[in-house]
Amino acid sequence: MFLPMTREDMNLRDWHYLDFLIITGDAVLDHYSFGSPLIARWLEHLGYRVGIIAQPDWRDAGSLKVMGRPRYGVLISSGNMDSMVNHYTAAKKRRHQDAYSPGGRIGLRPDYAAAVYSRLARQAFGKQTPLILGGVEASMRRFAHYDFWSNSVKPSWLMEGDADLLIYGMAELTLKAVAEVLAAGGVPGDCRHIPGLAYRVPAGGAMPRRRVLELPGFKQVAASKQAFAKAFHSIDLEQNFYNGKILVQRHGAEYLVVNPPQRPLTTPEMDEIYELPFENRWHPTYEAAGGVPAFAEVEFSLLSHRGCFGGCSFCSIGHHQGAIIQNRSAASILAEARRLTEKPDFKGYIHDLGGPTANFRGQGCAKAKKYGPCRGKHCLYPVPCANLKPDMSEYIILLKRVAALPGVKKVFIRSGIRYDYIMLDRKTDFLRQLVANHVSGHLKVAPEHCQPRVLAVMGKPDYSVYRRFAARFAKMTEQVGKPQYLLPYFIAAHPGCTLQDALGLALEMKKGGYQPEQVQLFLPSPGSKSTCMYYTGLNPDDMRPVYVARSREERDMQRALLHFAKPENFPLVRAALTRLGREDLIGWGWQYLVPPPGEPPKRRSNNRRSGGKTPVKGGNRHGSGYRR
Ligand code: SF4
Repeated sequence: MFLPMTREDMNLRDWHYLDFLIITGDAVLDHYSFGSPLIARWLEHLGYRVGIIAQPDWRDAGSLKVMGRPRYGVLISSGNMDSMVNHYTAAKKRRHQDAYSPGGRIGLRPDYAAAVYSRLARQAFGKQTPLILGGVEASMRRFAHYDFWSNSVKPSWLMEGDADLLIYGMAELTLKAVAEVLAAGGVPGDCRHIPGLAYRVPAGGAMPRRRVLELPGFKQVAASKQAFAKAFHSIDLEQNFYNGKILVQRHGAEYLVVNPPQRPLTTPEMDEIYELPFENRWHPTYEAAGGVPAFAEVEFSLLSHRGCFGGCSFCSIGHHQGAIIQNRSAASILAEARRLTEKPDFKGYIHDLGGPTANFRGQGCAKAKKYGPCRGKHCLYPVPCANLKPDMSEYIILLKRVAALPGVKKVFIRSGIRYDYIMLDRKTDFLRQLVANHVSGHLKVAPEHCQPRVLAVMGKPDYSVYRRFAARFAKMTEQVGKPQYLLPYFIAAHPGCTLQDALGLALEMKKGGYQPEQVQLFLPSPGSKSTCMYYTGLNPDDMRPVYVARSREERDMQRALLHFAKPENFPLVRAALTRLGREDLIGWGWQYLVPPPGEPPKRRSNNRRSGGKTPVKGGNRHGSGYRR
């Protein structure tokens, strides 16, 4: 049974009030992959009465009152994504589809949704009802932060949304503690001891006394890029549940106080959460719209763990889920797999069994499990830490056990994998298992670039590691006799990447004879290290200047260079080559990157020698010599 979304739903349960009301920017998909339904089921499991209002009319405070005032608090989330990332592309163009809305319809939530809903809830319920922000948007915007879409520094979402508390990271343990305080008659101010929580203190009010670090205030970081980068560096260093400091940042007449992160969940706790009684489908009210597209991604997939210790500068998973891997037990995953096989539309294929990085299951560093991630150190960059002992044997056994279940034909891994971590594996021959049994045509990998100085800024391994991996993958693929390929992802215009670097990557791809399908224009999402570099032009780790391509023209050129074989990109690629003084790469023939404008020269009749066929190295119909 779905949790109530209307007064009628409450009546069906004979409920006259709610304990907690959840307001979310996503449609209700009652599955553990979706934050608000997960939190709702968790609170229900803890014994609270919970209702959800999904995608309310944000111009009407009355739309939040349909189930009355909740007894203990209102929980607010933009949904599974930051609303601006959800609404706009890296070129700041409005997207046409929203995978988290019924029928994929865009426009069912406001920009900056978490802050907008929070102010609306304040209007609807006044000061006496605690407002608690959570979810990715609030989490990654918990400090004063750079907002790409308005090109400005914005205050913490706690202040912007006029909320009482902000829970960052994965919320279960923190919310459980907050709920206990509020249900016992406490007020938000009584929650200040709880990890994973941010709260407000008026200037002159009682501040925490021990292990406190004051960051440059909102006014300072908005006025000075140096101050912004320094603040980011301190935030980055203190993301440790074991010994992180309490961070304080002045916002006008108030202080933002952010407690250290919540501890990672144990395996029994993970099982408890992932075995909650989800309906595993979208709410029936969305049937008429054809359902909610995001569900297709997860319907026949299994999540094995949370967290990522990859430490890529552009990624927010480490700052949200934490760097410590939190595993579900094999028994819990197998039980869920069995349930999947009983679904009438199950065709025998488990689409994914993984986590943010599939082959990180198990952690690999005993020290990190006990004391949290190291301060200012990467596990895999610039070279893998000696304490990292990859062991994918348990993951391999799990994959085999799921694959052996009656009704299961194949188990694929569609989550990203870290190929540099696979290359460290001396124990299990994970790659052979992967290639032989778990690739569905393409394997996603993310070298992201090939130029050393760009990779250094990204916190990614040297490109030679990718080359070695690609060679091993190709060899093993040949051995198993399957037509399957690597699908490498690249980022254009990441901080540190000049036009010359983008050309270097284009030439590398041309040399390798492939055209990447997956090129992403760098999107400065809130709260990441790369976004800090994009805004400040400084690497917060050492405060050294970093080149940043900010103009629309250069960003477009960098992206076009990585897709140089697409005819629509030829003018931009020619402009980029002209700017770099590399007109020698413009011409008709396989040795050039792009053709010049105009029609190709007419072929001479002696082409009959080759039977009229395009030479092997002779390129596509535009004469750019590119094999697709
Ligand atoms: S000891 Fe090494 S592997 Fe472990 S957390 Fe620190 S950097 Fe990562």
